[in-house]
Amino acid sequence: MIVRVLGSAAGGGVPQWNCACANCRAARAGRAPRRTQSSLAISTDRKRWLLLNCSPDVAAQIEAFAPLQPRRTRGTPVDGMLLTDANVDHIGGLAVLRQGGNAGGFRVRSSALVRSIATAQPAFAPFAAPPHRWLELMPGELAPSEGDDDLVGNSLSIRTIAVPGTTPGYDGRRRERGAVVAYEISTRDGRSRLLFAPVFSAIDDALGGAIERAAVAFLDGTFYTDGELLAAGLLRKRARDLGHQPVGGLDGTLTQLRGVNARLIFTHLNNSNPMLDPDSASHARVRADRAEIAYDGMELTL
Ligand SMILES: [Zn+2]
Ligand SMILES: [Zn+2]
Repeated sequence: MIVRVLGSAAGGGVPQWNCACANCRAARAGRAPRRTQSSLAISTDRKRWLLLNCSPDVAAQIEAFAPLQPRRTRGTPVDGMLLTDANVDHIGGLAVLRQGGNAGGFRVRSSALVRSIATAQPAFAPFAAPPHRWLELMPGELAPSEGDDDLVGNSLSIRTIAVPGTTPGYDGRRRERGAVVAYEISTRDGRSRLLFAPVFSAIDDALGGAIERAAVAFLDGTFYTDGELLAAGLLRKRARDLGHQPVGGLDGTLTQLRGVNARLIFTHLNNSNPMLDPDSASHARVRADRAEIAYDGMELTL
């Protein structure tokens, strides 16, 4: 399985258009890498690809990665998308791709709740009608299931894991099962277990078990501390209010996962996150715990 990081930032990217914080200024000045909004592309043959979340930056992400570009006058090597939640930075790319995919359309997959929230919005509703299909994945069940036998040429199997989190702000931030999911992706021989969990507000038993089983886990790296938005004067909200468990701190992800075997890669980094500065104490702490920070263009083979 080939895993390509298309984007590694939380909503807004780095730099964010209306932000002049230290991280955004460093990215504008070329002292730090620019980051588009988070998404992965995965493939088993480099010919057909599945997007894990579909960010509003998807057109630029396709132009930055030749294997995702069309090979005919019209067409796309992108088969479909798996969506973790209905936040606009994770589904907004669908509106960008409204000219259509292959003749057969895209296969979009999400929880039933995410499907209902997203398709209530006029920009996303067309993806639930032909030529597209919007399939509902049940947490705990393995896909492909009946009627869904074409997951990247039937070469991958996917387990959906409901994780603690909320619906998006535009839906009232309701805490409801299925509002946010993670995906555990294996090749059909049962190997190469990738976990994609870019959003969670806590690590419960189900998510913890999936992290234990993973070879590589992409994890929510949005915020390093619960109060960093308040401290920087950016927004009067805490990380946990926004549905994100912070990376640092006594009850943060690094401490909770100490000793886990999986390769841990933080993604979905907000521009407020001090981990983005390689000279910061938080960056050093991440590296000391042998975790990694994703970057646009990062590629792994599992
Ligand atoms: Zn997001
Ligand atoms: Zn900023």
